[in-house]
Amino acid sequence: DSRLTHIKDSIRSIPDFPKAGIIFRDVTTLLLDHKAFKDTIDIFVERYKDMKIDVVVGIEARGFIFGPPIALAIGAKFVPQRKPRKLPGPVVSQEYSLEYGTDKIEMHVGAVQPGERCLVVDDLIATGGTLAAGIQLIERVGGEVVECACLIELSDLKGRDKLKGKPIFILVDFE
Ligand code: 5GP
Repeated sequence: DSRLTHIKDSIRSIPDFPKAGIIFRDVTTLLLDHKAFKDTIDIFVERYKDMKIDVVVGIEARGFIFGPPIALAIGAKFVPQRKPRKLPGPVVSQEYSLEYGTDKIEMHVGAVQPGERCLVVDDLIATGGTLAAGIQLIERVGGEVVECACLIELSDLKGRDKLKGKPIFILVDFE
């Protein structure tokens, strides 16, 4: 797909952020490029429009940028999964491990109903811990995770191995 080269080129790489030795892949520069942003959403919509997705679940924070336009275009609802203590109503929460320590994400009770077909969206998969926790939250309330969609995969980190065989669709790979 010839659109992918332009999409990849629009992502800025920032060395030593948030700490020394990490190259941060910055998608805010993609958002400044109308063609790159639109092509990104179009590619996801082309893939998911006929897959009977009931819910697009977006992971804080950048899943909130890419998830909603996909949900609107394919006729699905949008559900945010947020960092702890951000959602005002009753939540289900899932802990997951980081390189040092643990983190947590939460989702409103009732936002995903049993049997609903879900697409999980985030900007990037690194170790896979965040997406794996997102999948677990959905499955704990009886939702079905059809696929995960990310713009970027850091494939050397083998994050997809944490997804227990769930399919993942990505647009660009930074090794
Ligand atoms: P994981 O849990 O797979 O190790 O990390 C993925 C999560 O961290 C995603 O929510 C993603 O937004 C964030 N993340 C980690 N590294 C980067 C990066 O280089 N660029 C961006 N945009 N997000 C990152």
